[in-house]
Amino acid sequence: MSSQEHPLGISFEFFPPATDVGRGKLLQARDALATRQPRFFSVTYGAGGSTQERTRAAVRAVGERGITTAPHLSCIGSEKAQLRDLLAQYREEGIDSLVALRGDMPSGMASLGELRYGNELVEFIRDETGDHFDIAVAAYPESHPQAPNLDRDVENFARKMHAGANMAITQYFFTADAYFRFVDKARALGVEKPIIPGIMPIINYTKLARFSDACGAEIPRWIRKQLESYGDDSDAISQFGTEVVTNLCQRLLDGGAPGLHFYTLNQSTPVLKIVDNLTD
Ligand code: FAD
Repeated sequence: MSSQEHPLGISFEFFPPATDVGRGKLLQARDALATRQPRFFSVTYGAGGSTQERTRAAVRAVGERGITTAPHLSCIGSEKAQLRDLLAQYREEGIDSLVALRGDMPSGMASLGELRYGNELVEFIRDETGDHFDIAVAAYPESHPQAPNLDRDVENFARKMHAGANMAITQYFFTADAYFRFVDKARALGVEKPIIPGIMPIINYTKLARFSDACGAEIPRWIRKQLESYGDDSDAISQFGTEVVTNLCQRLLDGGAPGLHFYTLNQSTPVLKIVDNLTD
C-alpha cells in the first residue's frame, strides 16, 4: 500500500454515462472521491458489450487523476476474437487491472458467445496475457440468483479464484454475517486472496428494492419497513441509509474485511458521508 492510500483500502465503482450531463456528473464524482486516495476506480460494462466504447471513454476520463482504473469486462455474448482485441486495446492504453465477469445475457441477443462462465474468462485472460492484468472477479455472499444453493455457488466462485484471479469484489448485501460466512466457506476451499465487500449506499428506496430483487441481494425486513415508512422523504431516507450502511461497513472492517468497494452510482456525497464516518 502506498503511503498516499486511504488507510481503510477503499475503491469506487462508476458506470459509463450516456449523456454530456452524465459525463459532467461522473467527473465531479471522480474528483470528489479521488481526494480520499482510493486503491482504484472501476467502470462497469454493459451486458453483451453494449457499452464497450462508453466504458473505454469513461475509463480514460476517470483515469486522468492518475488513480488505477479497472474496466469491467464480461464474456457472455462475445467471441474470443472480440475479447482478444479488447484486451490488446486495454494493454496499449496502459490498463493493467480488470474486473472479469460472465455478465447477463441481454434480451434479443442470439449467441451466448464462446466462454460460458467467469472462470473460463479468467483462464482466457491468463492464457492470452499472462500476468499482465490484476484480475478481480465477482462474489455473492447471499448466493448468485442462478445458483442452486450457496455451497454450489462458493464452489464455482473458488473455481474462478483458482483460475488466476487476484481478488474478488462482492455483490452488495446488508447483513454482515452473510459476508463472513461466505469468506469462511471460500477459505475452506483454499481461496486465500482478498474478498472485498461491495457496498451500496441507500439513496433511493424504490430503485434499490427493484435492483435488489433482480440481483438477489436481500434487504432485511426491518430496513425495508423503516425505508417504506419515510415515503418520499429523501432526507430521512438518506439519514437512515447512511447510518445503516456506516454501521455495516464498520462491522465488516472490525471483523477483518480487507477493504471496501463502493457502488457510487456516479454520486460522491452519499459515499463520502459513509467513508468519512469510518475509523481504522
Ligand atoms: P459466474 O462466476 O460465471 O457465475 C454465474 C453463475 O454460474 C453462478 O450461479 C455460478 O454459481 C454459476 N457458475 C459459475 N461457474 C460455473 C461453472 N464452471 N459451471 C457451472 N456453473 C457455474 N454485470 C455487467 O453486465 N456489467 C458489469 O460491469 C458488472 N459488474 C459487476 C461487478 C460486481 C462486483 C458484481 C458482484 C457483479 C457485476 N455484474 C456486472 C453482474 C454480473 O455480471 C452478474 O451477476 C452475472 O449474472 C454473473 O457474473 P459472474 O462473473 O459472477 O458469473
